[in-house]
Amino acid sequence: MAAAQQLSHVWPLGTTVDERGHLILGGCDAVELAREHGTPAYVVVVDDVRARARAFVQAFAARCDDFEVTFASKAFPCTAVYRLLAGEGIGCDVAGGGELALALRGGFEPARITLHGNAKSEDELRFAREAGVGTVVLDSLHDLERLERVVAADGRGPQTVLVRVTPDVRGETHAGISTGQADSKFGLGLAAAADAIARAQASPHLQLDGLHLHIGSQLLELAPFREAVRAIAGLGDFRTYNLGGGLGVAYTADQRPPSIEDYVEAKVSAVRELLGPGRRIVDEPGRALVANAGVTLYTVETIKQNVSTWVGVDGGMSDNLRPMLYGARYEAVLADRAAAEPQATVKLTGKHCESSDVIVDGAALPTPHVGDVVATPVTGAYGHAMANNYNGALRPPIVFVERGEATVVVRRETYEDLYARDC
Ligand SMILES: *Cc1c(COP(=O)(O)O)cnc(C)c1O
Repeated sequence: MAAAQQLSHVWPLGTTVDERGHLILGGCDAVELAREHGTPAYVVVVDDVRARARAFVQAFAARCDDFEVTFASKAFPCTAVYRLLAGEGIGCDVAGGGELALALRGGFEPARITLHGNAKSEDELRFAREAGVGTVVLDSLHDLERLERVVAADGRGPQTVLVRVTPDVRGETHAGISTGQADSKFGLGLAAAADAIARAQASPHLQLDGLHLHIGSQLLELAPFREAVRAIAGLGDFRTYNLGGGLGVAYTADQRPPSIEDYVEAKVSAVRELLGPGRRIVDEPGRALVANAGVTLYTVETIKQNVSTWVGVDGGMSDNLRPMLYGARYEAVLADRAAAEPQATVKLTGKHCESSDVIVDGAALPTPHVGDVVATPVTGAYGHAMANNYNGALRPPIVFVERGEATVVVRRETYEDLYARDC
């Protein structure tokens, strides 16, 4: 291991390879984590999440007097992650009643929670009102009318709202996570937004604070953010502009996303120059806060050689749906030979009954053996969030690692959990 290659920037901050070649995450040996907690398992390097949250806050604080960073919690909705980010003093946004329940349980102050959703139910709006959610983002006129009814009935006074605008700007990303185009299920087009703004301003039940936009996720270019701000500039003069999230992350070593500082600079300067000074800017990072902190550990169950080499592991699309949804690419290493030269290019596949259940198509690995622990980085965002029970898979535990200590914050599901809801 003398000439051990460094692991790429996709791995959690502080990741190392020890003298035996073992992958060390948050000071914990990944081989031991797998032995102790079983596989598949999500490992989260706590300091990585903290560092990124602080980088967002500092980047805004250096450029802007009035701002709020809110965790787009759909990226990693688990109580312990909410608690961790609540502890960093940032806000939170939720995509529905379930995430709201988790955010409250994780300790977020209701006033700093923002409720999103393109098809919120009346129950969800009532729950948000009872909880005292600070901001509701209106996504349609039906949403507006429904919220007015809920507010009128509960007598708790007007609700602070933003109107979500679809700016007709396309970020370069997978169609499945592009949301800023005119033909979108999210938000209101410019003409419809003007109508919603007028109705919200005239309503005794709504307190319109500003506009919201979110043009998409995993964006690796900054120019579309400025275009989006330009597109909504004509809609009026507001205190608050919530510009959504979307900063992309590196999934593979060849990807170089913009830095948090450059992303914040692009948004702040666009607002200052195109909307004028004195605005309150809200940002909603999801992926960029939690993606790189997460690593999934698997065990190799089978190796099959035909046209390709198929390395089958004990998880797959039940713990990481992104390769199937977006053709997302990942890297992999063997946890006990983490810096060894690759000797084989393999298809790292899951255990599910779908041929497209391939986690990494073309993983470069040292010669793998049955029983090896495989680690795939960058699974902190939209991994646990989209986990499912296909084929009766038991959803993995979440293990926080920090300064050599491992703590299980979500246990592995059990077979009993699979029939716990039977009546
Ligand atoms: C998904 C989403 C985000 C977060 O997106 P990331 O790409 O994970 O940063 C922010 N705001 C809204 C409204 C979203 O739907």
